[in-house]
Amino acid sequence: MEELGVKRRIVLVPVPAQGHVTPIMQLGKALYSKGFSITVVLTQYNRVSSSKDFSDFHFLTIPGSLTESDLKNLGPFKFLFKLNQICEASFKQCIGQLLQEQGNDIACVVYDEYMYFSQAAVKEFQLPSVLFSTTSATAFVCRSVLSRVNAESFLLDMKDPKVSDKEFPGLHPLRYKDLPTSAFGPLESILKVYSETVNIRTASAVIINSTSCLESSSLAWLQKQLQVPVYPIGPLHIAASAPSSLLEEDRSCLEWLNKQKIGSVIYISLGSLALMETKDMLEMAWGLRNSNQPFLWVIRPGSIPGSEWTESLPEEFSRLVSERGYIVKWAPQIEVLRHPAVGGFWSHCGWNSTLESIGEGVPMICRPFTGDQKVNARYLERVWRIGVQLEGELDKGTVERAVERLIMDEEGAEMRKRVINLKEKLQASVKSRGSSFSSIDNFVNSLKMMNFM
Ligand code: UDP
Repeated sequence: MEELGVKRRIVLVPVPAQGHVTPIMQLGKALYSKGFSITVVLTQYNRVSSSKDFSDFHFLTIPGSLTESDLKNLGPFKFLFKLNQICEASFKQCIGQLLQEQGNDIACVVYDEYMYFSQAAVKEFQLPSVLFSTTSATAFVCRSVLSRVNAESFLLDMKDPKVSDKEFPGLHPLRYKDLPTSAFGPLESILKVYSETVNIRTASAVIINSTSCLESSSLAWLQKQLQVPVYPIGPLHIAASAPSSLLEEDRSCLEWLNKQKIGSVIYISLGSLALMETKDMLEMAWGLRNSNQPFLWVIRPGSIPGSEWTESLPEEFSRLVSERGYIVKWAPQIEVLRHPAVGGFWSHCGWNSTLESIGEGVPMICRPFTGDQKVNARYLERVWRIGVQLEGELDKGTVERAVERLIMDEEGAEMRKRVINLKEKLQASVKSRGSSFSSIDNFVNSLKMMNFM
């Protein structure tokens, strides 16, 4: 940063989970390219790699005693709650020390919305802070709405199929059942965390990994409600790609893809947290096999409850996938989606996977597992019309039909046209004069204005 007297250091506070680490590190890269120095503050439960790709970043670890087994025992929501309690004091101390060492040179703290403990330190040292949302703008809107509902009566509504199938007032086309409730904990603790995450407290801006061509009305809603600038700067994986995979990628699948016909393969991945039941995996395997299409399936270790990897699956499963399937533990997802052999993406519809699929022009089979994935799946099917959502019990006939609709039918060809059109819009938005490109410039300019020493 050339200007004399402008503060240069940006402190990033990521959530230690793949879907959150990836976009915040990409944001770090984007800000680094604008001349800022980047410090990443990690908790001791550290899932962020300080690999060679980030050798220009500075990493700090604050004390905090939560472990992998705490995550297993508490579940993600209680874990986050506790992490926020534990880290508040140590983060204050860390920022105090950093300010001393850096001669007050902190331009702002950018914290993941789930790491809201950051606000106490920011307040104490009167630093500018920015809330970073790694989900879609629509999911943020939903969390704001949910944080205000009465948990008891909402639970009753959700149990009544006549209500849960209805559209939620003001959130067209989302139904009650599409709202981001979670399989990872009781509604009350989820709503408690949501009311913390949507409370922007003293944050002077909100950055969202999205773009106006995907979510203009949700972004406008947030802009109006939050009363601080909202900067949609995504998709970050196109604007500032930065490899940050926490698991080792098996690149042999690219060789396998090279041998498949163009547009024929269904790529299946459920992200870094979703779990699969053996019963559903068998229905999927049958349906995929009956569809006669080749498929590349990521089965993450630990994603089948009670099993290290696939050892608990019956023999029938291996027989079904052996003909046309290829299984890996973790794939180089963006390269896979970019491969010409891939014709469709069976996804849990995490926000990163959604953006990556649109970014490569690949239509989707949507099978959300929990939380904001349900919101994204509904948007994929009903708003952008580039996906087929599978709802209710999985059965092999429905799976086979969904693959046919996507790969063989005219309907799939129409979806492909629409997703390619969106892909072009996404690419334009991060190029010079595009909306996300301008948004990040506006954010950087606002920081400069705030930060003359
Ligand atoms: N991913 C990957 N290889 C895989 C599966 C997933 O690199 O085999 C990456 C994917 O590209 C995405 C992230 O993991 O960036 C998953 O994030 P998402 O928001 O889609 O889902 P989450 O893991 O948070 O549920």
